[in-house]
Amino acid sequence: MLAEGAGCRPQVGGRDERAAGRQIVLAMITDADGRLAFANGDLLALGGWRWSDLSGRPWHEVLIAPEHRRRVVRAFDRAVAGKDETACVEAPLRTSDGRVRIVAWSATPSLGEDGRPTSVTSVGVDVTRWTEERDLLAAERDFDASHDRLTGLPNASTFRWRLGSELSAGRRSGRSTGVLLVALDRLRTVVETLGQEAGEQLVAEMGERVSDCVGAAAGRTPSLTLPAGTPEPMSAWMVARWSDDEFAVLLPGLVFPEETVYMARSIVATVAAPCTGSAADLRLSAAIGIALAPSDGDHPATLMRHAAMAQHAGRTSTEHMVRFVPALSQEAEGRLLIEQQLPLALERGELSVAYQPEVDAVSHRIVGLEALARWHHPVLGEVPPVRFIPIAEEIGVIAEIGQFVLQSAVRHAAQWRSDGLGDVRVAVNVSAHQLTDRSLVAAVLECLDQTGFPAHLLELEVTESAAMVDAQAAADVLGELSRQGVTISLDDFGTGYSNIGKLHHLAVSTIKIDRSFLLEDEANPSSDPGALIHAVVTLGRNLGLRVIAEGVETEEQLSRLQPQGLDAYQGFLFSRPVPAAEILRLLREGRPLGSDPGIRIA
Ligand code: C2E
Ligand code: MG
Ligand code: MG
Repeated sequence: MLAEGAGCRPQVGGRDERAAGRQIVLAMITDADGRLAFANGDLLALGGWRWSDLSGRPWHEVLIAPEHRRRVVRAFDRAVAGKDETACVEAPLRTSDGRVRIVAWSATPSLGEDGRPTSVTSVGVDVTRWTEERDLLAAERDFDASHDRLTGLPNASTFRWRLGSELSAGRRSGRSTGVLLVALDRLRTVVETLGQEAGEQLVAEMGERVSDCVGAAAGRTPSLTLPAGTPEPMSAWMVARWSDDEFAVLLPGLVFPEETVYMARSIVATVAAPCTGSAADLRLSAAIGIALAPSDGDHPATLMRHAAMAQHAGRTSTEHMVRFVPALSQEAEGRLLIEQQLPLALERGELSVAYQPEVDAVSHRIVGLEALARWHHPVLGEVPPVRFIPIAEEIGVIAEIGQFVLQSAVRHAAQWRSDGLGDVRVAVNVSAHQLTDRSLVAAVLECLDQTGFPAHLLELEVTESAAMVDAQAAADVLGELSRQGVTISLDDFGTGYSNIGKLHHLAVSTIKIDRSFLLEDEANPSSDPGALIHAVVTLGRNLGLRVIAEGVETEEQLSRLQPQGLDAYQGFLFSRPVPAAEILRLLREGRPLGSDPGIRIA
C-alpha cells in the first residue's frame, strides 16, 4: 500500500472529510530526532489520540504500522534531505482502535545554521478512499486486459500464458496437463436467427455452465482425492473464453488422463440442457477436442492445435468429443483441402445428385426417391456427403449446395412424371442452416413453379437436431411450406432428442426411422423383438404419420420389420443410391425391388 514518487503531492480537501464543508488537514511537527513536538486536532481526532499519548514520542512509532515503518521512514528522510523536492509519502497510519488509514504526507524541514534540519513540519491528507478507488481501478484495468468482457472468464492470452506455466510445472512433476477445447455447435445459426444479443446471452450462460461443471467435476475426479501425503497439490483448473464460440479448459496436474474424458462428458451434458430466457426453445450442443501433454504435445501452440483438430472430429462423433490421435493431423489436412475445394465444386460441375428408392412395404415398388448430393473431385475422388455437408454448413456454402440438389431433384422428377412414369415422390435433405432461412420458402416455391411439379410430391427431410436449433424459426419455415402443400419428413428419427411433442409443431407428416434403430434391435433380439420399432410405429399411427425404415440391408432385418406394419422401406437391400439414368430404367421397368415380396408375405 506504500507508494512514493512524484505527482502525488497531497491535495487539500480529500474525500474523507469528517465534517461536511470543512477540509481536514493533518499536521505535525517533529524535532531533529523525529520526536513529536506538535500534532494538530485533526490528526489527534483521526487517530483517536490525546496529545499526551504522542508528545515526545518518535512519530513513526506512534503513527505508522510496524510492517511499513522502515520504508516510510526512508522515504521521509529522502524528502527531508531535499533529494526529491516534489516527493510526498503515502503512509499507512494505524489508529488507536487498530484501523488503518492512508495518509499522504508532505514534509518540509526547518534548517539550522549548519544546514541540518532542526525540525520538520509535515502536512497530511487522509487519502484512504482515494487510494482504494485507485487500486480498484488498477485492478479493474488488469482484469479487463486478462479477461473476456462478456463472460468474465480469462481470455485466450491469459489461458495460453497459464498453459505455458502449467506445462513447465508438469515437466517437473511428471504429471499430465489436459486441455479441452469446447465449441458451441450451431451458435452461428442462433446469432443469425435470434440476433447478436441473444447469441451473447447464450455464450455467457454457457460460460457459466462450463465453469460450474468443471468446478464441480474437479471435486469428484480422482486427482483431488489422492491419498493423503501426495506431494504437490493439484494446480487449479481454468476455464477461458478461447474464441467467439469456444471455451478452453485447462486441467493441470492430472494423475489419470481419463479425467479429461469424465470432464468432457459432463460438459457435453451441461451444454445440451435446455436454454433459458429468449433462447428457451433452443438447444446447443458441444463438440470437444481433448489433448494431453506431454503425449500430444508439450508446447501451448501444439497442444491447442491438436485439441482443435480433435474438436473438429468431435463435431461428427456421437459422443461429441474426441481425444487427439496423430491420424487427426492428416485428417485436418484433408479437411483444409475440402474447405478450399468445396466452394469451387459447383462452378466446376463436380456435384451431382444420386437417388435412392423408397419402396412400398407391401409391393416393394418404388414410391419415393431420396435425392442425395454426390461430389466427385478430380484428385480426392468421391467425397462422401457425411464428410462435405458438415463442412459446407460451417463455411456457409450449404444453401448453394441445397439449392442445386433441390433444383436437380425437382427437374428430374418433373421430367419422369411428364414421361408418364407415375407420381413418384422426391425427397430432398435440408440442413439446419437452410431451415432457419426464410428464403428457403421462396426458393422451393419458385422451383415448383418453374417445373410445374406438384407440391405434394416434394418432401423435405429435416433432422430433429436441425429443427431444434431454432425451433420457432424452423416451425415458421416448415409451416409455410406445409401450407403450400409440400410434405415434411423427420429424418434419422431416434438419433436426436426424439422430442415427439415437437413433431406436430413442425408440420411433419413422415418419420424416417434411423438405421441405428435396426442395428440396436438386432443387438437385443432376446425379449421383445422389434419393441423399439413397434413403439415408434404405434406412435406414428396415433399421430397419423407415415413411418419409413431407413438402412434396410438384409433379409433378416426385413423379416423382423415386416410384422411392424411400416409404410415403406429404404436401404441397400432394395437399391443403393444410383444416378438419375439408372432411376429412369428402374421406373420404366416398374418391378418390385429386392427379393420377391410375395415369398415373404406368404
Ligand atoms: P440421410 O438423409 O439419412 O440419407 C441416407 C443415407 O444412408 C445415405 O447416405 C444412404 O446412402 C445411406 N443408406 C441408405 N440405405 C442404407 C443401407 O441400407 N445401409 C447403409 N449403411 N447406409 C444406407 P449418404 O448418401 O452418404 O448421405 C449421408 C447423409 O448426408 C444423408 O443422410 C444426409 O444427412 C446428408 N446429405 C446427403 N445429401 C444431402 C443434401 O443434399 N443436403 C443435405 N443437407 N444433406 C445431405
Ligand atoms: Mg435423408
Ligand atoms: Mg436418414
